[in-house]
Amino acid sequence: MIKLHDLYFKPFISEKEIEQTVQRMAIEVAKDLKDEIPVFIGILNGSFMFVSDFVKKYPKPCEVTFIKLASYEGVKSTEDIQRLIGLTQDLTGRTVVILEDIIDSGNTLEEVHRIFRNENVKELKIATLFYKPEAYKKDYKLHYVGMKIPNKFIVGYGLDFDGLGRDLPEIYQLKTTQHMTNLV
Ligand code: 5GP
Repeated sequence: MIKLHDLYFKPFISEKEIEQTVQRMAIEVAKDLKDEIPVFIGILNGSFMFVSDFVKKYPKPCEVTFIKLASYEGVKSTEDIQRLIGLTQDLTGRTVVILEDIIDSGNTLEEVHRIFRNENVKELKIATLFYKPEAYKKDYKLHYVGMKIPNKFIVGYGLDFDGLGRDLPEIYQLKTTQHMTNLV
């Protein structure tokens, strides 16, 4: 039987490569933050696998939570204004590390910065597993980058294509822009 993702996605980054990258990042962050007890904040949905593996490999005490950015409904604007769901914790004086699955244009990151400007955090650091330098249009510093990848759509390890593929343990590159559900 041919699986859908075999037809439309080609293997790109193996489970082993991802594991080694996440391990390296966890050690790098731990070294950098020294005795701080950071609050890791994963941006849902895409970061759930990365955050889960990252915190398991993080060798020191830490806190972990998730937030979600959602578009305001009913806002008549060409700009996509975002609101934040899920942040209940007081972050005053804390070192916060945002854990992103992927940074593409940087628009999401801009929203994150806008939202966290009002929280009195001690320090805001950005960690991303995947980064597309050719697509990035902002100036925000990316403190920890797992892998730089070409400006092509990827799926797997938390990242979806039309809702599918988040469960895949490895990363695939999209071969076609054809809508997946047209094929089922
Ligand atoms: P940005 O705001 O930096 O353009 O993109 C960030 C968000 O877009 C990510 O959190 C992710 O949800 C989505 N995204 C960007 N590039 C990709 C990609 O190659 N594959 C998938 N599945 N999602 C992506």
